[in-house]
Amino acid sequence: MIAVVGSLNLDLVTSVPHHPVPGETVLGGDIVRHPGGKGANQAVAAARLGGEVSFVGRVGDDDDAEVMLSAARDQGVDVGHIRRTSGTPTGRALIAVSPQGENTIIVSPGANSRLSAADCAAAADTLGRARVTVLQQEVPDEANHEAARLSGGTVLYNPAPAVTGAELPSRVDLLVPNRTELAALAGLSSTPETLDDVSAAARQLRRLGVGAVVVTLGGDGVLLCEGNAGLHIPAFPVTAVDTTAAGDSFCGALAVGLAEGRSLEQAARWAAAAAAISTTRAGAQPSLARREETEALLAQ
Ligand code: ADP
Repeated sequence: MIAVVGSLNLDLVTSVPHHPVPGETVLGGDIVRHPGGKGANQAVAAARLGGEVSFVGRVGDDDDAEVMLSAARDQGVDVGHIRRTSGTPTGRALIAVSPQGENTIIVSPGANSRLSAADCAAAADTLGRARVTVLQQEVPDEANHEAARLSGGTVLYNPAPAVTGAELPSRVDLLVPNRTELAALAGLSSTPETLDDVSAAARQLRRLGVGAVVVTLGGDGVLLCEGNAGLHIPAFPVTAVDTTAAGDSFCGALAVGLAEGRSLEQAARWAAAAAAISTTRAGAQPSLARREETEALLAQ
């Protein structure tokens, strides 16, 4: 079983002719609503690949809460540890997309910001039984720290979005940043570009006591840093049309691979295949890969 502790956001997406500058108003297109949030996306990514997934999180006491709960439930995610929070809205993300496909995103965490150490303690049995516990940075540190402490299996920490001042839990077995998040954690002034630079930054993080570091590199694939060795896994060659949630797809799939007993390298290859598939389709949760197509791409 995989435990995902994290955020659930209703994404409100609109197209804009250009992104507004401070003080400017622009007219956007009709708003489209999608279930999102890094926690929810990663949980759905894992469930769609056949993982047994239990979610620990919070929604508000509004209509959006039901949208989020039923989207997770419909994908087979156990929502028994998602609490409703009175007097608080469900998390929302306001997303504007320009004609060039560039996003600006404002996340209003709402109920996600109320997720507490006590909520994780209430799910101690689930966390203790989980083969993999998946964490990100859209809920308070105290919840992540308690979840990591209570986890009976591998703690997979995705330090996303990059938040200055976020503190890693005392136990992280597997850290999964992208280049930007790696730079933020390593305190670098610029994003590491070459594999050597990425590898040096990842080694620096391992000194923080992290088990292994798996850096996702977009179309450049993945760099796996375990011990002093680094292994580059190239991206699967696909025609990418929308890379939204590629990182979430990767994390959910990596959790499934590890929970099924694959080695880290095998699990990272499987996750790279699932993430590649997600880039060939539009959107976040609708784009997430299924098991058969992931196995087929992996076997090519
Ligand atoms: P994030 O969405 O967190 O920034 P990345 O962009 O690094 O994450 O993507 C996560 C993973 O998705 C990559 O490591 C890679 O395996 C896969 N991926 C992303 N973009 C592509 C692409 N253009 N072609 C194939 N695979 C991709």
